[in-house]
Amino acid sequence: MHKPMPEQGAASKDILKQLEAFKERDPRYKEGKVWSLVYYLNEEHSGFLKDAYHLFASENGLNPGAFKSLKKIESEVISATADILHGTEEVCGVVTSGGTESCLMAVKTYRDMARDQRRVKKPEMVIPETAHVAWFKASEYFGVKIRLVPLKADFTPDLDKLRKLINRNTVMILGSAPEYPHGTIDPIEAMGEIAQSRGIPLHVDACVGGFILPFMEMNGENLPLWDYRVPGVTSISADIHKYGYAAKGASTITYRNLDYLRYQMFVYQNWPGGVFASSALLGTRPGGGYAAAWGALQYFGKAGYRKLAEDTLAAVSQLKAGIEGIPELEIMGNPQGPLFSFRSRDANLNIYAVGDQMDARGWQVNRNQYPPGLHAMVTAQHLAVVDAYLADLRDAVAAVKADPELAKKGGAATYGMLAHVPLRGMVKKKVLEMYSEQYRAGGAELDIAGGADEGIGGGAPGLLDRIVHWYVQRRSRQ
Ligand SMILES: *Cc1c(COP(=O)(O)O)cnc(C)c1O
Repeated sequence: MHKPMPEQGAASKDILKQLEAFKERDPRYKEGKVWSLVYYLNEEHSGFLKDAYHLFASENGLNPGAFKSLKKIESEVISATADILHGTEEVCGVVTSGGTESCLMAVKTYRDMARDQRRVKKPEMVIPETAHVAWFKASEYFGVKIRLVPLKADFTPDLDKLRKLINRNTVMILGSAPEYPHGTIDPIEAMGEIAQSRGIPLHVDACVGGFILPFMEMNGENLPLWDYRVPGVTSISADIHKYGYAAKGASTITYRNLDYLRYQMFVYQNWPGGVFASSALLGTRPGGGYAAAWGALQYFGKAGYRKLAEDTLAAVSQLKAGIEGIPELEIMGNPQGPLFSFRSRDANLNIYAVGDQMDARGWQVNRNQYPPGLHAMVTAQHLAVVDAYLADLRDAVAAVKADPELAKKGGAATYGMLAHVPLRGMVKKKVLEMYSEQYRAGGAELDIAGGADEGIGGGAPGLLDRIVHWYVQRRSRQ
C-alpha cells in the first residue's frame, strides 16, 4: 500500500507517541530475551547515550576542519582504542558508522596498497569460513576474490590450507577475535607469523571482541594474544556499538601506522564543489554516534568495562555449564569470549526444533548452519536471566524428545528443507527476489509469523519460510 507524505505537519508530541507505538511488536530486549542485535544495560545508561547523541545530532564529521569538536572526539576515541589494543604511538585510525564499514575499509585499503606497491591486478584475500558476512560483502563490492580457508574440527582455520591459499595476488589475510558464528578466537599469533613471512598484511576482525576481550584479560582471564602485540597484525576493527555499549553507529578501524591508513583515504581535487578529502566510506558523518561512543568510553572507563566483562563472563560460564549439563547438547568448539553456539549430540534431537521451542517460550535465539546449532551473544544484562533461560532450554529439549514430529514443523522444517540441494541452489536468487520486494516504496508489511531465519535473513522475518513454501508448491505442481 502506497502511503503519500502527509499534506500537513503534526505536533511533535503526537509523532513521538506514534514512534513509541511502532515499537510494540519489536524484540523485547529490555527483558533480556534477545541474544543478538542489541547490547542493552538499563534505562539510565540508554538515557545518557541519548543525551550525548542529541548534543551532536546535527553536527557533521565530514570535514574535520569544520567541527573541531568532532575531530577531537574522534582522536580521543581512536587513542583510547589503541590503548586497550596495545598499540604504539604510531597506531592511527578512523571512527566509522559500524563494523561493516570498518571491514569494508580494510579490504579497500589493502587492495589499493597491493595495487600501488606490488602492481596486483587481480586481488585476492585469504579468509576463514567463519569470517563475518561483512567480508563477503566487501569481496563483492570491491572486486577482491575470496580464498576460503576450511575449518578444523575445533572451528579454527586450517593453517596448512591457509598457507597454500596465499599467492602473489593475495592482498590481505583475515583472522577474527572472536569469529561471530561460534565465538572462537582464531590463532592470531600463528597467522601473524605466516603473514609476516610472506609480507602480507593481517587484519584482525575484533568487531565483536574489541571492547570486551581486553577487559577480560585485565581481569586475569588467560586469553591468546590477538592485538597489536602480535607483530604481524597490521590492522584491527573494533565496534564500540557492541560491547562498548555505545549508541548504534560507532566502530573503529585502526592501523599499525599511517603507511597503511593512507590507502584508506579518498581525495578528489577537481570537483567543482571544491577539493574533497574523505577518510572512510561515508560523506556526511553522524556526529551523534561519535559523541555517544566517546561518552560511553568516559562513562565506564577501564574499571567499568572490567566489571561488565566480569558479569558477562559469569553469565557465559553459567550458561555453558548449564548447557553441558544437558546430556543431549554440547558447546561447539572452544569459545573463549562473550559468545558461543551449541548443538545437538543426539541423533534424535533436532536442534532447530529446540530453537522453535525456545522461541515459543519468548526467547529470541539465532540459528547457525554448517553445522546446525543455536547461537548466544551474551551481555552483562543476561546474568539476570541465566536460570530462566536454562530452565526453558531443559524444557525445550524435553519437549522435542517427547515429540520428534516437532522437527517437521515450524522453523525446524524450514531449515530441514533448506538442506535440500535443489532448493539450496535457488536460495540466493529467491532471497534476492523476495528481499528486494520489501523495499518497494510504501513497503509491503513483513511476514511477522516467521522468525526462524535471523541466522540468515537478519531482519527479514519469515523470508526463508516463504521461500520454502514457494519451493514446496513449485514441486507439487511438477
Ligand atoms: C558485528 C560484526 C561485524 C559487522 O558489524 P556491524 O556493526 O554489524 O556492521 C563484523 N565482524 C564481526 C566479527 C562482527 O561480530
